[in-house]
Amino acid sequence: QAIDGMMPDPTRLPEGCVFCERCKYATPECSKSHPGIVSLGGTHQVRCLRYGRQASDMN
Ligand code: SF4
Repeated sequence: QAIDGMMPDPTRLPEGCVFCERCKYATPECSKSHPGIVSLGGTHQVRCLRYGRQASDMN
């Protein structure tokens, strides 16, 4: 599923997650911390601070 908005300028990427300005699930932490890659097995990977967290931990 594509998200609204445009990719950020690659020469001026945000400090945190590159999606923080247009992700509907973003939290204040997303604009400060760059998420690392987590392997899901095979060729699948995820790079999101919310991955593996409970929704109640994100507010
Ligand atoms: S870390 Fe996850 S929740 Fe946060 S802005 Fe990036 S994609 Fe969205």
